[in-house]
Amino acid sequence: MSDPTPADAIAPDILALIGNTPLVTLKGPSAETGCTILGKAEFRNPGGSVKDRAALGIIEDAEARGLLQPGGVIVEGTAGNTGIGLAVVASARGYRTIIVMPETQSREKQDTLRALGAELVLVPAAAYSNPAHYVHTSRRIAEETPGAIWANQFDNVANRMAHIKTTAPEIWAQTQGRVTGFTCAVGTGGTLAGVALGLRAENPDIAIALTDPDGAALYNYFAHGELRAEGSSVSEGIGQSRITANLDGLAVDAQFRISDAEGLAWVRRLNAEEGLCLGLSSGINVAGAVRLARHMGPGQVIVTILCDSGLRYLSTIFNPEWLAAKGLG
Ligand code: PMP
Repeated sequence: MSDPTPADAIAPDILALIGNTPLVTLKGPSAETGCTILGKAEFRNPGGSVKDRAALGIIEDAEARGLLQPGGVIVEGTAGNTGIGLAVVASARGYRTIIVMPETQSREKQDTLRALGAELVLVPAAAYSNPAHYVHTSRRIAEETPGAIWANQFDNVANRMAHIKTTAPEIWAQTQGRVTGFTCAVGTGGTLAGVALGLRAENPDIAIALTDPDGAALYNYFAHGELRAEGSSVSEGIGQSRITANLDGLAVDAQFRISDAEGLAWVRRLNAEEGLCLGLSSGINVAGAVRLARHMGPGQVIVTILCDSGLRYLSTIFNPEWLAAKGLG
């Protein structure tokens, strides 16, 4: 990966602006728990989310392996943010992107992907066991398209490697080694497992916690050894029902299950009281960080991920009619 560009320097290209995001103190969550709770401002990446890091890591890995030739095609199944990251990196490097996305994801992400020049294939939401699921559809399109690679973010460990190499060392340096806990939710698991591996290599005593939305199976897996989902969530980009290759081997020190209502309450509070406009996965992450702070006790330094901006969800979680229709008004 390229070296991060300092704020006072001229970046050679947009890719040099991926990563090196600031940590912001979350004042309400910190005051409430007697801990220092910090959010990693991943919405500041060029594509607007934490997934720019994985997109760059996956493309650079494919280039290094000789799998991607000039003018080649990148195909991926995504809830949206990985597709946006891939489209940004692909344009900057001269590749095409074909993005397969469930039609349930926000209109803003669909429009953003089209605006970035990605070819968008929308499919109905389906269970992972169904061959029509967006991940399987994207794999088939990659197999049928000459010169294409399948990014395969769930099981391609170049994803978590990007977080081992960038996100974790940034958190360690930015907190001057004072970080004592980290938590976030899982989509592919690249962020949680990569940051866990990277931080534990610096200090094995740092507590790593899973924050799981309702409707995902990992809380029960880590709490009871059983992959079983309960409930449902309107959050996008998180909620996993299997152990992906990126999650393989991960052990956590604690696990928390967070409802949409609890995550949404933090989205609204941070928006109203701290000027932070965030997506629901960020609100769920902050709720998890507050639980971890209470679990560990006062005086801790806890970091979580602010995955993307609320502007990506104006038509959903910031739309009262949409919320009412989902029973979340
Ligand atoms: N939040 C949002 C909004 C996302 O798009 C994603 C990516 N799927 C995540 C969180 C989870 O990140 P990861 O895939 O690294 O687990």
